[in-house]
Amino acid sequence: MSEKYQNLIVGTGISGAVLARLLAEKCQSVLVIDRRSYIGGNCYDYFDESGINIHKYGPHIFRTDDEGIWCFLSRFTTWHEYIHKVRTKINSKEVPIPFNLSSIDILFEEPKAKIFKEKLILNYGENKKVPILELKKSADTDLKELANFVYENIFSHYTLKQWGFKPEDLGGDALARVPVYTSYYDGYFTEKYQAIPMPSYTKMFENILNHPNIEVKLNTEFKDLKNVKYERLFYSGPIDEFFDYKLGALPYRSLDFKFETLPQEKFQSVAVVNYTSKEPYTRITEFKHFLAQNNKKTTIAYEYPSGFELGKNERFYPIPKQENETLYKRYLELAKKEKNIYFIGRLGEYKYYSMQSAVSAVFELVKKLNPV
Ligand code: UDP
Repeated sequence: MSEKYQNLIVGTGISGAVLARLLAEKCQSVLVIDRRSYIGGNCYDYFDESGINIHKYGPHIFRTDDEGIWCFLSRFTTWHEYIHKVRTKINSKEVPIPFNLSSIDILFEEPKAKIFKEKLILNYGENKKVPILELKKSADTDLKELANFVYENIFSHYTLKQWGFKPEDLGGDALARVPVYTSYYDGYFTEKYQAIPMPSYTKMFENILNHPNIEVKLNTEFKDLKNVKYERLFYSGPIDEFFDYKLGALPYRSLDFKFETLPQEKFQSVAVVNYTSKEPYTRITEFKHFLAQNNKKTTIAYEYPSGFELGKNERFYPIPKQENETLYKRYLELAKKEKNIYFIGRLGEYKYYSMQSAVSAVFELVKKLNPV
């Protein structure tokens, strides 16, 4: 006997889970499958032996300016309000990232600090986010000096480690995510809503997927699915894998995490410290900061970027380069020939989505679906 659903969704990450819920609430039947043994995709978290909440795939901080997205997710979780702060060490001094007016005060003496700050504000205005590659184009000698300093001490080594490319060889908006900020505000993000789901991301995903019209099957490969009939397929897995890599593999960056639980209350001042010099890792995350957990121990993770290799590690980041975008577009042409198949999410759309932008894309998709 075959099972019938109106929708099959491959992947229980944020795109798949939110889409499942939206369709289920429109009275559509939905089967969601995932090859992993747990839901949540790379948002998956768990509590370790010490009771500390761990983001298995690296730090995830939810933020949005969109009331609709915030209200929607708030139906499935309560939140721990959390302002994400990131620091790095330059010349033995801890400074905020994004590099901002306080970073200048910490690193430079007067009158230099005053000149840098005044010129930044004169040229770009107050509370403005200036991409480093734009700042580097400045004709002003002081701003050029500042840009070169920030480039060398924040972006150059980190980006080479993270992507395997120099900042100027990287396309897309990857670098603009972390601008130079002409402000004293020292949070990493500026969105109106910034929070971590309580008690966990995984619980939020469980609640999203908990609907009578949704069935979830874990440990299930799309290609092994037998006797299941569906009218529409939404695929949040890698688009190149779907087409058996017939045009070649889309490249990804991967991450390796080295977790350590230490017999001390605190390891560092904030949740994430970036290592922007020649260390082999890019950042250290101390997880207890996210939910302000009290614990005699602390768990940290060193983050080591590397290339993605099939069967060896996981896909984390599509690499924003023109040639990859071109290859993705060729896959998209193949996709357009298929009827009732939609590709969603970071891997389906080969897009460096953050959580809120993935949710937003799914909201838009559902508006366009006909019927529903
Ligand atoms: N970046 C950097 N130095 C930093 C932080 C970020 O060079 O200290 C660059 C780097 O190329 C990185 C990109 O900005 O990949 C985006 O950073 P973000 O923190 O948004 O990355 P994610 O948290 O998504 O890994």
